[in-house]
Amino acid sequence: MSDKIGLFTGSFDPMTLGHLDLIERASRLFDCLYIGIFFNHEKKGYFTIEQREAMVTEAVAHLSNVRVITSEAELAVEVARRYGVTSLVRGLRNGQDFLYESNMDYFNHQLAPELETIYLCAQPQYQALSSTRIRELLTFQQDVSAYVPESVIKEMK
Ligand code: ADP
Repeated sequence: MSDKIGLFTGSFDPMTLGHLDLIERASRLFDCLYIGIFFNHEKKGYFTIEQREAMVTEAVAHLSNVRVITSEAELAVEVARRYGVTSLVRGLRNGQDFLYESNMDYFNHQLAPELETIYLCAQPQYQALSSTRIRELLTFQQDVSAYVPESVIKEMK
């Protein structure tokens, strides 16, 4: 049997406890799970790509089968093919995520019919968390330590 290899992508700007919970749960389903930090230099992020990479790498250091990769302006299916990925992994927080993800799933299947996506539902305590909301709180100098991994707080200092 060949290895099961997963890929969980996002902008992680910044990583939240919701992302981390999903990664911990997904890591148990695969021999190897890649975390793809996707970025586009034309869109200015809140955190630099180097900061995001450092935050995510530190937050997943306890998971021995998880590897962090970065990708600029590429489709997830292209990255998946390059790394021999057998399934994409996505999170579902609410109906809005479901509609967005089911549309994306249609096009991913057109581009890569051999690749399936596994959806994990966010746990209730993480359903309200989004990177967008965290960035907004940070813009107004609010404490976000209840919502993000310790490594994010460290990077900000
Ligand atoms: P993007 O903004 O590029 O979609 P995100 O980093 O916001 O990237 O999301 C990447 C993935 O993480 C998506 O599948 C999303 O549904 C999932 N996700 C985001 N926040 C949470 C959360 N709080 N709980 C579970 N999954 C989440």
